[in-house]
Amino acid sequence: MPINIDHIRGLFPVLHQEVNGRPLVYFDNAATTQKPLAVINALSDYYKKDNSNIHRGAHTLADRATRYYEATRGLVKSFINAKEEAEIIFTKGTTEGINLVAATFGRKFIQEGDEIIISTLEHHSNIVPWQMLCEEKGAVLKVIPINEAGELDMQAFDELLTSKTKLVSVVHVSNALGTINPVAEIIQKSHQKGAKVLLDGAQSTSHLEIDVQALDCDFMAFSAHKLYGPTGLGVLYGKREVLDAMPPYQGGGEMIKEVTFAKTTYNEIPFKFEAGTPNIGDVIAFGKALEFINETGKKAIKAYEDELLSYATEQLEQIKGFIPVGTAKNKVSVISFNINGMHPFDVGMMLDANGIAVRTGHHCTQPLMQRFGIEGTVRASFSVYNTKSEIDTLVASVSKIAKIKN
Ligand code: PLP
Repeated sequence: MPINIDHIRGLFPVLHQEVNGRPLVYFDNAATTQKPLAVINALSDYYKKDNSNIHRGAHTLADRATRYYEATRGLVKSFINAKEEAEIIFTKGTTEGINLVAATFGRKFIQEGDEIIISTLEHHSNIVPWQMLCEEKGAVLKVIPINEAGELDMQAFDELLTSKTKLVSVVHVSNALGTINPVAEIIQKSHQKGAKVLLDGAQSTSHLEIDVQALDCDFMAFSAHKLYGPTGLGVLYGKREVLDAMPPYQGGGEMIKEVTFAKTTYNEIPFKFEAGTPNIGDVIAFGKALEFINETGKKAIKAYEDELLSYATEQLEQIKGFIPVGTAKNKVSVISFNINGMHPFDVGMMLDANGIAVRTGHHCTQPLMQRFGIEGTVRASFSVYNTKSEIDTLVASVSKIAKIKN
């Protein structure tokens, strides 16, 4: 089914407003996507009708909240095609998912002299936890370089990967450039060397169809807020055998089987990794976001976003002074650029004056910016509710701004 854009835009209340006297053009979707009314209503309905703690209560509201919470786990399982619901752990977001793996898998299985591989494209949240772990353990962090287009140098990866590699943790889709990485190849080669693979799926889950079983990744971390869901909520997928072998993350309620002062035994997965009262309302609301994606169709979303990407790229490239940053052949609907002679922040401010929301700066990828020798970029990222006419507005504004210095 092709995208019915009027219907889709009608589902997102935030889009229908003016900013600085102009209709809002929201092109900051890689930072966070907007939320359909069904998500907003589900959150308020939970607090109005069902608010209760889950898993323990012997009363109707607790039962209802537990069922709704666990139903979202089922939807996530199908969304990424995990083998079982127990492999779906709710977290605060991608950042916490990666930190969880570093703190548990890392602490138990990474030893002095072991190697961890990441890439130049990583978000800080897939760099810093590994630096902290390597410092603690005396392990070594290695980085896959990229070419000028912002694509991974796979030959260099082959050389970095050795029997010392214990973990390869790479971003599936770059938030700063939109590059889609060849993760199937990375996973297959890493497994041949006995290394586990974590995919940072913060950006890929909103654009690509995800099948963790076909990919065979050991972990995938992603965030609900980039998937039309609430902020401060995410998912860590892990293969059962890997999760079972890992020690718990945080200690507290829910993650235990039995506690005595002499010894505590731990709960089964996923509860072993969900200590304390979770973000119940947001998990329930996230279910509505996944339903929106399922109803719209991942294939249709990707095809529509690809159309927006080509439409925008073709026009922006015509503008004198437009400098694209990241021109990978295989990419999602993200355009990072600079304007010759202008600071990205100034460009962002001028676009905002025209009602256009973009992100400017280093996009939490400072080493990537260093690789290109730049301070930052302007990033326009498109989602399923954006239109070609909004892109026309962007192109007209960028064109006008570029003329100041070009
Ligand atoms: N990884 C990538 C590629 C991202 O784009 C982001 C968010 O921008 C993150 C990790 C961190 O996500 P969160 O802040 O939701 O934990």
